[in-house]
Amino acid sequence: MLRFDHEFLPQRVCLASGQAPLILAREVERLGGTRVMVIASPSELKRADRVTADLPVMYHHRDVVMHVPVELAERARAAATEHRVNLLVSVGGGSATGLAKAVALTSGLPIVAVPTTYAGSEATTMWGLTHGNRKTTGVDARVLPRAVVYDAELTLSLPVALSVASGLNALAHGVDSMWGPRADTLDQMMAQEGIRALTAALPDIVSDPMNLTARERALYGAYVSAAAFCSAGSGLHHKICHVLGGAYNLPHAQTHAIMLPYVLAFNGNAAPEAEARIAAALASTSALEGLQELRSRLGVPCALGDYGFNERDIGDAVDRILPVLPAGNPRPINADDLRRLLTAAWQGADPRTIMDDSTKGTENKS
Ligand code: NAD
Repeated sequence: MLRFDHEFLPQRVCLASGQAPLILAREVERLGGTRVMVIASPSELKRADRVTADLPVMYHHRDVVMHVPVELAERARAAATEHRVNLLVSVGGGSATGLAKAVALTSGLPIVAVPTTYAGSEATTMWGLTHGNRKTTGVDARVLPRAVVYDAELTLSLPVALSVASGLNALAHGVDSMWGPRADTLDQMMAQEGIRALTAALPDIVSDPMNLTARERALYGAYVSAAAFCSAGSGLHHKICHVLGGAYNLPHAQTHAIMLPYVLAFNGNAAPEAEARIAAALASTSALEGLQELRSRLGVPCALGDYGFNERDIGDAVDRILPVLPAGNPRPINADDLRRLLTAAWQGADPRTIMDDSTKGTENKS
């Protein structure tokens, strides 16, 4: 029986390459932005200055750090109050968007996001803040950017390795949407389309980073995957990655890129419909094989151990992840399973080693 109860996001999404300054000015005016705070890290400065040149900017906030340390959020909130800001513009990856969200969370200020990676934070009501080495995440409608301005020209400078890792972070939104706690058929439809678009775009970006069409398709895939993820809620993959990122300061996109095949191997056979949709989107007969083939074409990071995660952290990570495991994961998961998942990801082992033993043989075929 087909049944759903789906809520679409109240957000305007624009994609027009080369048009960001124009469209951003239009959206800021539409939203009544007369005192704007621009959030962009020093490495995004040139891009940010170019797209925000015609805006009524009161303050430029440059202090942007991944996973939004709470002290930094407090400083940005104080700056917004001090400069009597009435709209936030973020230009950059998920870290810049995340800081804007932290300000919006306590102030209710509207955000217009200009994303320059495929992180997809702009399409979600989810926020994250890091206190010491503990990342807290939450959901609040106030943090959803009122408008998103995608301009693929701004992503041409994204290095290939980061494009690939960020693209796989986007793809992970699609995969986790298939079995998130609120996943419905509309989420799965969008997630499948997002995975398909990213699967087509990423190899073209690797072979030609200046391919504007591929960059546009990747932004589109990142958006629909993240919108699906926001509606479906965090599944197993994101719960694991959020803990790892916050507790051990691992790079976000690379952590997702490495963890994804392990979670897919763990869940895939317990969720046959999701597995079939992911496989179809990857143009493969098996989701895991399709993902591994794509990863080998892209040349991706393989082991958490290469990014600062130590074997001795595994027990601590298991303890941190267990209390936040999502309800209704397709396959029950316990501390031993988590330990096997993390150990395999730490060393970059073959993901098939953590598949359900009873189904390992069938997945290996073809
Ligand atoms: P990021 O924003 O830190 O960017 C990574 C690096 O790429 C930075 O050094 C940045 O300066 C550089 N960069 C960005 N755009 C560039 C461009 N066009 N050209 C050249 N360099 C560029 O990393 P990210 O992976 O985009 O985002 C990660 C953060 O976003 C994490 O904190 C994560 O938790 C958060 N996130 C949140 C959500 C959500 O829904 N709340 C979703 C995804 C990610």
